[in-house]
Amino acid sequence: MQRWFTMIIQTYREEATQYVRNVYETVMARNPGEVEFHQAVKEILDSLVPVLESNPQYIEHRILERIVEPERLIVFRVPWVDDNHNVQVNRGFRVQYNSALGPYKGGIRFHPSVNASIIKFLGFEQIFKNALTGQPIGGGKGGSDFDPKGKSDQEIMRFVQSFMTELYKYIGPDTDVPAGDIGVGGREIGYMFGQYKRIRGGHEAGVLTGKGIRYGGSLARTEATGYGCVYFVNEMLQSRGLSFKDRTVVVSGSGNVSIYAMFKAKELGAKVIACSDSDGYIYNQNGLDIQIVQRLKEVERKRIKDYVQEHPGTVYVEGCRGIWSLQCDIALPCATQNEIDREAAEWLVSNGVKAIGEGANMPSTLDAIEVFLANEVLFGPAKAANAGGVAVSALEMSQNSMRLSWTFEEVDRKLQNIMKNIFAESVSAAAKYGHQGNLVLGANAAGFKRVADAMIAQGVV
Ligand code: GLU
Repeated sequence: MQRWFTMIIQTYREEATQYVRNVYETVMARNPGEVEFHQAVKEILDSLVPVLESNPQYIEHRILERIVEPERLIVFRVPWVDDNHNVQVNRGFRVQYNSALGPYKGGIRFHPSVNASIIKFLGFEQIFKNALTGQPIGGGKGGSDFDPKGKSDQEIMRFVQSFMTELYKYIGPDTDVPAGDIGVGGREIGYMFGQYKRIRGGHEAGVLTGKGIRYGGSLARTEATGYGCVYFVNEMLQSRGLSFKDRTVVVSGSGNVSIYAMFKAKELGAKVIACSDSDGYIYNQNGLDIQIVQRLKEVERKRIKDYVQEHPGTVYVEGCRGIWSLQCDIALPCATQNEIDREAAEWLVSNGVKAIGEGANMPSTLDAIEVFLANEVLFGPAKAANAGGVAVSALEMSQNSMRLSWTFEEVDRKLQNIMKNIFAESVSAAAKYGHQGNLVLGANAAGFKRVADAMIAQGVV
């Protein structure tokens, strides 16, 4: 009896492993050269083997083949005129990845590195992240290879208006709801909203999130991703009887996610000793003045190196990678994909890091994750740890539908609950599938199950 049982389990395991391998090979063959997309798919698929073993219905319904294929990928030309009267052409993207749980939802990224691979990796991750929030939102993502760095306000506006003149055809409050991401903040969302309204001729507040408070935005949306990341890490720390109090924290980036992660970490008693931008990082063992970082980056749109002029005791180091060689208790990668590779992960571990919270999307390579898990560092993967932003976006959509707005405290309380739930669900899914403490597997499994069950219920569509 015992032997038969073991053999059956073994057969299921082999079938699940083989199925995952086949799907991954098809993804590689169908999407040649899209390395970031392959990486994101691999991370998810590897986590799903134990889920598939105990849920053969997902194999039967061919859920993996369906989930890796976007429902739609829109690519378009974005022509605009710069301040020197030259015509410029960029490429725009929107991937409408999966609508099983609700309207496509996900940010827009403006960065020169944007291409189909980057948009697809982000869109694919967004499906599972959004599912984990427990809110009724599907997964999508968009962007352009437009580089906002050094552009005048007028150039940004002309570019955004051209971008929206094409994008408006595909979005809507019940269809697809974009928001911000790298290079897209309150200013850009404002211009997008203005142009959408002008073309459509109506005030459809729920078409975008991250809007200004005066025209349908939600309080605490600006803070949500950074705060949410710290709330999540706090849950992880508490599970081992630790806290932020008197801990040293290194945060990469100095954009929206990073700034509010730093503020919240400091509020919880930590000392934030370093942050960065794409040129280099600043470091001060006595702690950074986050207000100055915020003014420099958000108001004056300057570089992080300008901090040292106001704070001569702080060191500026050219290049970003070295930030991970600093000794710290908690590391919050909040800049961009693949900023922590195996070597950087090894530096962190050998310097005694206790916890990692991914504020950016896919900031750790697969090798780096392996290092963290092997060394039993508390590791909060992006899909769980940075879900606070999109969660509050969903709360913004709810407020828009009800035509009322909640107070800051109300939204913040809901955000804290959502982050607590994501942590609890990830922990229990990891344990259920036999990988206690592995939140990568737990978050992926919990998010996946929600989407897969909805897909089965809705038939082959
Ligand atoms: N860009 C953010 C993310 O990666 C937010 C998306 C949203 O609010 O829709 O989740």
